[in-house]
Amino acid sequence: MQVTETTIKGVLTRTSGYLRDVTSHSLQPYRGCGFGNALCGEYCYVRHNAYVTRGRPWGSFLEVRTNAAESYVRTVARERKWAERERGAFRVFLSSATDPFVPQEKKYGVTESVLQAMITEPPDELIVQTHSATVADYSDLLQELKACARIHITIESDRDRLPGLPAPASSVAARFEAASRLRAAGLRVVITVSPLLPIEHPRAFFARCNECADAVIVDHFIGGDGSANGSRTRRTPLPEAMEAVQAGTAELAYRERMIAIAREIMPGCVGVGARGFAGTFE
Ligand code: SF4
Repeated sequence: MQVTETTIKGVLTRTSGYLRDVTSHSLQPYRGCGFGNALCGEYCYVRHNAYVTRGRPWGSFLEVRTNAAESYVRTVARERKWAERERGAFRVFLSSATDPFVPQEKKYGVTESVLQAMITEPPDELIVQTHSATVADYSDLLQELKACARIHITIESDRDRLPGLPAPASSVAARFEAASRLRAAGLRVVITVSPLLPIEHPRAFFARCNECADAVIVDHFIGGDGSANGSRTRRTPLPEAMEAVQAGTAELAYRERMIAIAREIMPGCVGVGARGFAGTFE
């Protein structure tokens, strides 16, 4: 993977599309993703975004936005004003086109510096979205943002591997452990089952979610990948691998069955799709 350093003018991006009703802004500390060659990189919708990739294979590059915190501080007043006027509140999604805790974060500390900047200028709401168990190493810093932060940890299944696909960024066990640690520290934690992959023991899986999180969000690649009927994901090896493990899981009806089980185990704490990401739990 080619890692380069760069600077950015405006790190706060006004949201559109899927995120339009979730937050007013997204914030990407990096362009590209250090997990592009992991399991989630296979189905990552950003890999299809030519504006981000500029023709480069997904997982082959990472641009480190070294001035992200400085850019946040410089633009936050203007963007907050816009968000309050146009969207009702200033809400930030960190991150939608990269992972805030890519392995390179330990060296560059870009996300860390952004979080530190947010302590002085907090958004009304901050969603920290990650596939990495290393988010738990930032527990002390995240606690400084406890009033506004919601930590989303993606755990798509109780299985670590699907046939023919790479390993996840962090094991299922490590991500559950990270969720437990953050919740024990008093943070609001949500498990994002997104996209939903074949779950071997659904009741045990959602019971585990219930132990270590305040809520779950369930999202299928159909309806969740930004294309009509999941056509974007259907061009990847993911649906075939899902069906090889468990027939019917690449159909939307599978999501409904898993939602029904999740609601039995976590009543009032289950979000679905974009409404769930926006904080509506039923
Ligand atoms: S961590 Fe997120 S942005 Fe990175 S490859 Fe996985 S899904 Fe894509």
